[in-house]
Amino acid sequence: MSTRAAAEERVRWLREEIRRHEHLYYALNRPEISDQAYDDLERELRDIEARFPDLVTPDSPTQRVGETPSEEFPTFVHRVRMLSLDNTYSEDELREFEARVFRAIGEQEIAYTAELKVDGLSMALHYEDRRLVRAVTRGDGVRGDDVTANARAIRSVPLVLRDEADVPPTLEVRGEVYLPRSRFGEINREREEAGEEPFANPRNSAAGTIKSLDPRVVAGRGLDILLYSIADARAAGVRSQWEALERMRAWGLRTNPASRRCQGLEEVLVFCREWQGKRDELEYEIDGVVVKVDDFALQEELGATSKFPRWAIAFKYPAEQATTIVRSIDVQVGRTGKLTPVAILEPVSLAGSTVSRATLHNEEEIARKDVRVLDTVLIEKGGEVIPKVVGVVAEARPKGTRPWTPPETCPVCDEPVVRPEGEVDRRCPNVSCPAQIEERLKHFARRTAMDIEGLGDSLVAQLVERELVRDYADLYALDLDDVVALERMAEKSARNLLEQLERSRSRELRHLLFGLGIRHVGERAAQLLARHFRSLDALAAASVEEMEAVHEIGPIVAQSVHDWFRDPANRRLVERLKEAGLRTEEEGTAPVSPVLQGQQFVLTGTLDSMTREEAKAAIEARGGRVTSSVSKKTSAVIVGRDPGSKADKARGLGVRLIDEEGLSALLAGD
Ligand SMILES: [Zn+2]
Repeated sequence: MSTRAAAEERVRWLREEIRRHEHLYYALNRPEISDQAYDDLERELRDIEARFPDLVTPDSPTQRVGETPSEEFPTFVHRVRMLSLDNTYSEDELREFEARVFRAIGEQEIAYTAELKVDGLSMALHYEDRRLVRAVTRGDGVRGDDVTANARAIRSVPLVLRDEADVPPTLEVRGEVYLPRSRFGEINREREEAGEEPFANPRNSAAGTIKSLDPRVVAGRGLDILLYSIADARAAGVRSQWEALERMRAWGLRTNPASRRCQGLEEVLVFCREWQGKRDELEYEIDGVVVKVDDFALQEELGATSKFPRWAIAFKYPAEQATTIVRSIDVQVGRTGKLTPVAILEPVSLAGSTVSRATLHNEEEIARKDVRVLDTVLIEKGGEVIPKVVGVVAEARPKGTRPWTPPETCPVCDEPVVRPEGEVDRRCPNVSCPAQIEERLKHFARRTAMDIEGLGDSLVAQLVERELVRDYADLYALDLDDVVALERMAEKSARNLLEQLERSRSRELRHLLFGLGIRHVGERAAQLLARHFRSLDALAAASVEEMEAVHEIGPIVAQSVHDWFRDPANRRLVERLKEAGLRTEEEGTAPVSPVLQGQQFVLTGTLDSMTREEAKAAIEARGGRVTSSVSKKTSAVIVGRDPGSKADKARGLGVRLIDEEGLSALLAGD
C-alpha cells in the first residue's frame, strides 16, 4: 500500500467486500466467512484509512459510530404517515376482519402475508442513491425523532444498499428495532451489578437505547433491525407486500425469514397458532402476528380509516400469565446490602417453564399491590428473567391475612436496616453481614471479573460460615488444608480452586476493579477507569472531577468510586490485595520499549510460544503497533509457522522479516 492510488484501490475493494459479507450475514443469513475473517477485513480498512484520512467517506463501514454525542434529536415530519394497526385478540375477530374486506372488495380468494409482530420500536430508514441519509423513529406517526447517528451504529442497518438496478433513487423503508433476548439478559445483569435499575423489558431497553445521546452506547448494546415495508412501494414499481419483502432482501435489508405468504385466512390462522406455540424459541419477543392483504392494488382499493389501514390487522397473542398462591415472602440481601422481597410461589407452569419465585421489586411495590402471604396472584413473564407479580386476585383472598411488613432488621445478620432518604430500598448497613460477603465473593469470582470458576455458591457459603474468608484478600491466604477440610471437597477440586486463584492474580486491572463490586461500577465503567488511570493507586488518588473527565463516566460513578477509596477498610483491602500479588496496574504501564515504540508490526503464521493475540498485546504493551496489512510503513513482519501471503508481500516491499526467536529478543528488550 505504498502509493495513495494503490490504497484507494484497496479501500474500494475492502468496502465492497465488507458490504457483500454484511448482506450475506444480515439479509440472507448465509455467511461465507468467519467473524474473525470479517473483523480482519474491517481492521485492514481501518488501518489504511488511518494512514490516508482523506479516503474516509461517511458511508465507509468503519464510520458506523460517530464520536460526538448529540445534544438532542431534531424532529422530522414523515413524508408518508406511519399508521398503527388495528388489533384483534381472537380468531373470530380475525374472521370478522376478512368479512369487512369482502364487503369492500367482494368475496374472493385473497392472498395474505403473515409476519411476526416484533415487540420493539418502529423506525423509518431513508436512502438516497443507495446511501443511508436519515433514520426517524415512529414518534406519534406524523413526526418522529431523527436518530440517524444511532441507527448507523446498528450493525444490521446497511449504510449502503446493494448495487441493484431496481433500487429507487429515493427510498424509505420501515421496520422494527429490537434488542435480542440474550443481550437483554446480559445488559440487565450488568445494570444490576452496577447498582442501576434494570430495564423492565426488551422493548423498553430498545427504546431507551435509541434515545441515548451517545452512538457509542447504542453500538455496545447490540440492537438489531427487521424491515417490513417500503413506504412508497407502488411508486417503486412493487406490486405486493410479498414482493416488497423479497426486493428489500435483495437490496441488502434484513427482513424476517419467518414471514409467510398465505392463500386464504385458514393458512393465516395456521401460521398464528404455529408461532404462538413457538414464540419462546425466537431470539426476540413477539406479541402477535401482522396480517396484510398481499396485493397492493387491493390495498389501495380498501384504503384507510383516519387511524388504521383497512387492509392490515395485528393479531395479538394473549400475555403469558398464570395464577398461583404466594407461600411466603422472602427477603434477599444483595452484595451492596440492598434488601429485595421475593414471592415464593406454589410452583406453576408459565410460558414453557416451571415458576416458583417472582420478584416483588421493593416494599412500595408490595404495598401498592397489597400482596400478602396466602394470596392468589396473577404472574406474568415479559422479557424478564424472573417473572413478576401483576396483581392480587382479590376475591380469592382467605380470611385473616395481614398486609406484609418489611423487616426492621436484616434477615441474615439481624442488624437494624436503614432506608436512606429518597431511596425506595432498605439496606443492611453491616459490611460484615454474611449474606453480603457471600454475594460479594460470588461477584468477585464471576467469569467477567476474576474468573474463579471453582468458587461455587455452596463453597462460598461454607467459607463464609466457617469464617475462613471475610473479604477478597482472604481468598488468597487459603491453603490446601483449609479447602480440603470443607464438606464434599475432594482434593482434586481443592487443588483446582487453588490453581484458579493463583491464575487470577494476574487478571487485568479492569477485571479486578469490576470484581471489587464498587456500587455503580459495571464492567464498562471498570474498563474505562482502568484504561484511563492505569493503576488502583492512581484511581484511589483521583478526584471526583478527574474521574468525571473520563468520557462516559458520570458523576454518580465518580462519586461512588471516590467514596469507596475514602473508606479506610477499603484502603487496607487494596493494600492486602497488592501484598497477595494481584495485578493492580494496567498492562502498558510496563516501561515502553525504545526498540518497539512507534514501530508497526504485522503478524503472520502460527507462533509456538504464544497466540497471535498475546503477541499483539505484548507488542502494544511496549508501545508498538500491530496492523493487519503489510505496507512500506511496516517496520517488520513477524513470521511464524505456515506464514500467509503477507510474508511474500513483505519480501516484495523489502520489509524486514523476524522469526519467533527474534520477536522474543525484541520483547526482552534486545
Ligand atoms: Zn445483614
